[in-house]
Amino acid sequence: MSKIAPELPANGRSQLQVSGEIPVPVLINWLSISAVPLLAFFASRSVEQGEHLAAGLLIAFAILMTINLLIYAAFRHKTFQRRAFIGLTTTVFIYVSVSALENGSAIIWLFAYPPIIFYISDARFGVGACLFGFTGVTLLFFSPLADQLLNLPYSTSFRITMVVALGFEMITCYILDQSRRRSKLGLLALAREFEYAAKHDTLTGLANRREALAQLEVEYERYLRTNRPFAVLLADIDLFKSVNDTHGHHVGDELIVLVANTLHEEARKLDTTARWGGEEYLVLLPETNADGAVQIANRIREAIAEKAVMVAQTAVHCTASIGVASIEGAESVDKLLQHADEALYRAKALGRNRVCMYQIDGPA
Ligand code: GH3
Ligand code: MG
Ligand code: MG
Repeated sequence: MSKIAPELPANGRSQLQVSGEIPVPVLINWLSISAVPLLAFFASRSVEQGEHLAAGLLIAFAILMTINLLIYAAFRHKTFQRRAFIGLTTTVFIYVSVSALENGSAIIWLFAYPPIIFYISDARFGVGACLFGFTGVTLLFFSPLADQLLNLPYSTSFRITMVVALGFEMITCYILDQSRRRSKLGLLALAREFEYAAKHDTLTGLANRREALAQLEVEYERYLRTNRPFAVLLADIDLFKSVNDTHGHHVGDELIVLVANTLHEEARKLDTTARWGGEEYLVLLPETNADGAVQIANRIREAIAEKAVMVAQTAVHCTASIGVASIEGAESVDKLLQHADEALYRAKALGRNRVCMYQIDGPA
C-alpha cells in the first residue's frame, strides 16, 4: 500500500528556526557597536603618536560603521548591512596590516577576521576571503617589493609565526564552521520532520484532525473577511467493520489508505484532505458553494466505489457515504461540522453509498 508522499519542505520555507543561534544582523550590530569605540581609542593613540593620517582614517571607518548601523536601523535591509560590514571590515583589516600601527602590533587584529567572516557569510565566501587574506599577508611579509615600499618593522621569526598561525586559525575556523553548518542543517531537518508528524496522519499521509481544524479556522477567518463561501465534506467508509471482520485488520488498513489516495487524487490542489478519525475523512473545499461541493462529493464517491484492494485474487471493494455542508448556512466552524455530520448520518440512514447535503430546515 502506498501512502501519499510526504510534503516535507526542502528548504527554509518552514517557519522553524534553530534557537540559540545569534542572527547575523544582530551579530553585525554588536560587532559594529564594539568596533566604533575601539577605532576611536586607537585613533586617539595615533593622534598622540603624531600619526594624523592614521587617526583620520580610523575615525572615517568608525563613522562609516555608525552610518551602516543607522541605515540598518532605518531600513532593516540585511543584505546591504552585511555587504557594507564585510567591505568595511575587510578594508580596516587590510589597512591595519599594511600600516604597521601601534609599532606593528596592530596586525594581530587579523586573527579576529576569519571567525567573523565565516559566521556572517556563506562557506564559499569565507574560504575565498581567507585565501585572499592569507595570500595578501604572505606577499606582504615575504615579497622584497612590499618590504621596499612599506618598510615593515617585523622580524623574520614574527613573520613566519604570524603566517603559520594565521593559516592554522583559518583552517580551524573552516572546520568548525562546517561542523556548525551541518549540525544546523540536521536540526532543521529534524524540526521539519517533527512539524510534518504533528500535522499528518501516519497511516495515510493525509492531514490529521488537528491540522484540518487549523485549516478550517483559517478558511473561516477568510470567509469573514471576504464573504467567499467554502464547504466541507465528511466521508465515512460504509460497513467498514465487516471488512475488518472478514479480511482482517491489515486489509482494513489498506482500504483506509486506498480511500485516502482516492480523495487526494480527486480533490483540487487548494482543497485540504484530512483523516478525521478511523475510517472517516474530511475534505475542506475553499471557494466552493453548496452545489459545487455536492458535485465534487459525487465525483469522489464514484471514484471510491471503482477502487479495490486485492486479497488472494479477490477484489475487495468499498463504498463511502458523504455529508456535505456549506458555511453559508452556519455561524461557526463547530456548527458547520455539526451540519456535515448530520448530513452524513442521513446518508447512512438512507442506505449508504450516497451524498447528502445539509439544508437549513434539516439535512436533505
Ligand atoms: P457504517 O457504514 O455505519 O459507517 O458502518 P461501519 O462498520 O463503517 O462503522 P463502525 O463505526 O461501526 O466501524 C468502524 C470501524 O473502523 C471500527 C474500527 O474497528 C475500524 N477502524 C477504525 N480505525 C481503524 C484503522 O486504523 N484500521 C482498521 N483496519 N480499522 C479501523
Ligand atoms: Mg463507517
Ligand atoms: Mg465511522
